[in-house]
Amino acid sequence: MIITKAKPFPEILQSLEGEKTVFLVGCSECATVCKTGGEEEVVAMKAHLEQEGKDISGWVVLDPGCNLLEAKKEFRKAKEEIARADSLLIMSCGGGVQIAQEASGKVVHPANNTLFLGTVKRFGHFQEYCSLCGECVLDLTGGLCPATRCPKGLLNGPCGGAKDGKCEVNSDNDCVWIEIYDRLKEIGRLKEFLASPVRMHDYSVNTKPASLVLERNKNRRGNQ
Ligand code: SF4
Ligand code: SF4
Repeated sequence: MIITKAKPFPEILQSLEGEKTVFLVGCSECATVCKTGGEEEVVAMKAHLEQEGKDISGWVVLDPGCNLLEAKKEFRKAKEEIARADSLLIMSCGGGVQIAQEASGKVVHPANNTLFLGTVKRFGHFQEYCSLCGECVLDLTGGLCPATRCPKGLLNGPCGGAKDGKCEVNSDNDCVWIEIYDRLKEIGRLKEFLASPVRMHDYSVNTKPASLVLERNKNRRGNQ
């Protein structure tokens, strides 16, 4: 899921300066789990903005915020409220902000900062395990991602700076390359790993902006 963090309220207010009427848009999925754009947060944002003298013409929680067809459908239902608004405040990830812009043609403001693709360790605890490199090496590394969990993104680690098993960049974390070594030993894959050549990352597989078109019996990326 996409991890978002709410922008400080004064920053949101500043972005709405000079705009009296605002329409709010939330997201039923990632932003709801992150508590940055579910119904509860949208209703609370409405109350805060009204206290600051803003007129909230309406609000909607899209299911999800990053789906263009869903946004167009819901925006059609709220056509008058959206037309009356000077701008839209979008409480989702950056993808949702741009979808709202595309679906409405209105001025949009992000209420959140979008941080990373996260796993949920437990309620409210998110961890980055994958940085979407486009060329997964987890089969070679025992299911632990060096591109993401090593701060240097080393595919041929360790760097040699680890101390007592801890990463030299952030001593709160274990060195993932030591973890990879231990894991491969545990599952009996160390010999194969050590015998395999260092894999170079092909950066052409994740040039921006990426796209993916699903076709019958095919799964084709736009940048390949
Ligand atoms: S190697 Fe790491 S960053 Fe790349 S796709 Fe696999 S998990 Fe994601
Ligand atoms: S100590 Fe390990 S995890 Fe930290 S930067 Fe070096 S190789 Fe990467």
